[in-house]
Amino acid sequence: MRGFVRVALAWMGAALALAVPTRAQKPPLLPEKDVAALANELSGETAKRNLEGIARFHRQRGSRGFHEAAELVAERLRAYGLSDVALLQFPADGKIFYGSQRSRPGWDAEVGDLTDLTQFADNSSPCKKGWQETVEKAHKEGMVGVLIVCFNVLANYQSQPIVLAEDSESADVAADLVDVGQGTKESDYAGKDVRDKIVLVSAQPGAVQDLAVGKFGAAGIVSFAQNQKTAWWGEDENLIRWGHLETFSVNKTFAFMVSLKTARGLRERLAKGEKIRLHAMVKAGQHPGNYEVVTATIPGADPKLKEEEIAFSCHLDHQRPGANDNASGCVTILEVARTLQKLISEGKLARPARTIRFIFPPEIEGTLALLTGRAQVIAELGPVDSKGEVIPGADKIHTPISLTLEFPKKIKAVVHMDMVGGGPETKAVFHVTRGPMSLPNFVHDVAWAFAEFVNEESYKFAATGKAEYPLVAPEGGKEPLRAEYSAFTMGSDHDVYQDSSFGIPVIYLNDWPDRYIHTNFDTAANIDPTKMKRAAFIGAASGYFLAGMSAKDVPTLLSAIESSEFRHASIFQRHRNELASHSTDEMNRSQLRINKELVESISRFAVVPGELKSKMRERLNALYVGDEGVPLKTQVLVEASQGYSRKAEPKGPLAVFGYDYFADHAKATGVATPKLLSYEGLWGGGEEYAYEVLNLANAKRPAWQICDEVSAEYGPVPLEMVVEYLKALEEIGVIEQVK
Ligand SMILES: [Zn+2]
Repeated sequence: MRGFVRVALAWMGAALALAVPTRAQKPPLLPEKDVAALANELSGETAKRNLEGIARFHRQRGSRGFHEAAELVAERLRAYGLSDVALLQFPADGKIFYGSQRSRPGWDAEVGDLTDLTQFADNSSPCKKGWQETVEKAHKEGMVGVLIVCFNVLANYQSQPIVLAEDSESADVAADLVDVGQGTKESDYAGKDVRDKIVLVSAQPGAVQDLAVGKFGAAGIVSFAQNQKTAWWGEDENLIRWGHLETFSVNKTFAFMVSLKTARGLRERLAKGEKIRLHAMVKAGQHPGNYEVVTATIPGADPKLKEEEIAFSCHLDHQRPGANDNASGCVTILEVARTLQKLISEGKLARPARTIRFIFPPEIEGTLALLTGRAQVIAELGPVDSKGEVIPGADKIHTPISLTLEFPKKIKAVVHMDMVGGGPETKAVFHVTRGPMSLPNFVHDVAWAFAEFVNEESYKFAATGKAEYPLVAPEGGKEPLRAEYSAFTMGSDHDVYQDSSFGIPVIYLNDWPDRYIHTNFDTAANIDPTKMKRAAFIGAASGYFLAGMSAKDVPTLLSAIESSEFRHASIFQRHRNELASHSTDEMNRSQLRINKELVESISRFAVVPGELKSKMRERLNALYVGDEGVPLKTQVLVEASQGYSRKAEPKGPLAVFGYDYFADHAKATGVATPKLLSYEGLWGGGEEYAYEVLNLANAKRPAWQICDEVSAEYGPVPLEMVVEYLKALEEIGVIEQVK
């Protein structure tokens, strides 16, 4: 508690000192004319028109729908005049590994019909509506009875592709439906004969297929798995959730996704003892395919620095419509591409020293393929004229992406957008998310400086109807942005870039919650053009600043960092308070290391005099841990003094998309599941601890220090658990002991 009082005082001092800069009217970091040019050109409507195009496609990895979306993006990039527009393919056959990602074969579907074939011997059928006339006519004509067969369409892939779970296989089955509850435990099947029948489950198909199909011989699955948990969870009974089977399960099957409403109807009928017979007709399956990644650049101006890149990233895959997740991120970086290209080619913005790249991959797996694989270029599109036609014989400014394994080293920072179009309809809160504590970096402070500017301007406009930079799209909302500066959260391509095998810092812009995520109601209608304009502005301004950043920017940058870190220090402070009864030494130690590395990270972009660096460190240390500095207990832990370093392969985080490298290899080598993976800390869970323990294993840190660091990040965790996990990583060959 002593620490708290001291910090609180230091904090108040900082608040007074910073009151003026945070209230500044002038935009941060960039000349006002650049900011005005961006604010003026970025169009939420253009982004939305592109979004409406992408949202038409069912964009499963390696599918025709994904390819069509990729073609649309490539065509736009070309029409906007970007350089090096290319559609890259990385073979995906289920065998090739891209770092820790076992490639998942492509998957396509043509037919997916689920029909209720229930027969009724009388006219009490729920589908008798419309049959009444036929029944009466039949009686009049002296027939002895009428057999009514319902042909009630429960699901149709053509009209709503979301109804067929990804990785479904072909089938033509007529079978009875059996309700097995969740379907994930053996007891769910007790006393029920599901052999050759279709099971109705509340869990995701992938979580039940090995039991239902593999063990108990079911013919297929109907699932009404609900959405990710938020306050609105389960409220809308019309939502149909995107479903998945396990790509690599040997128990191949099909699965249909239905709404809660449909499922309730079926369950009620089954509970009354009614026999429900369904016909499932599926033409679908996995096939050797490709991960496709669209990319393009705005080449840098400096002969040397143009080899360095600032990348804009998103993910182009997901179910139709997938408007917020993640057509919104794709079209928003596309709008950044259009705007920067236009302003730079018209001379309204100076061409920055570094190259700016745009990347549109399938989530996580496409990014890992791009960073570790060698692509084939299937469509390489050169410069175009004003009508978007390729200029014959024109030189391409660059060869497309080098396709060498040196590529990741060129990327200095990434602006990643995943869900940036939500508004009042989706219940979105917009986050400017920092990186993991294993990779402290100033780029987050750059993003926050612009986000805070948009927060202020958009609030001023909402509250008074007047602001210099309202950043409102004519067809969009007028609500204030109210972006949050948030601690690292996982779950998108930024996990890959920020994994220690690449160590590339990522500005992550994202909405959460979203009550329609991964459902048929994640539609274009919910997407707010104003929101996309603002996300585009924050991204474009941050990326453009970083692409042009040099030593002359350092002084203004340092004050932006201090102001932004001041804001973030509140999270640190809250965590410290929660730990009042524990020692907070770990947190202080960790924060001192973070502050040091954060200041050092500026040197990747510009030369910073040593004196300025140490001053900056002192200021940050004062902000976080009090101006007297912290007297730390010297802790010598002989046990757990072993250090580990990461091997060159595999690159990437261990839990990726549709594949868990750790689980797969632990099973193969007989390693028991470490307790850390299911540990729940104060501010994070097993997956997060595991991600960071691996990232922090950098040869210099002994196990106890790694434990300290993750305790500071996600809450105290027993040292034995960290050691057990490190040993498991060593056994599966991901890390090795430092001698
Ligand atoms: Zn997403």
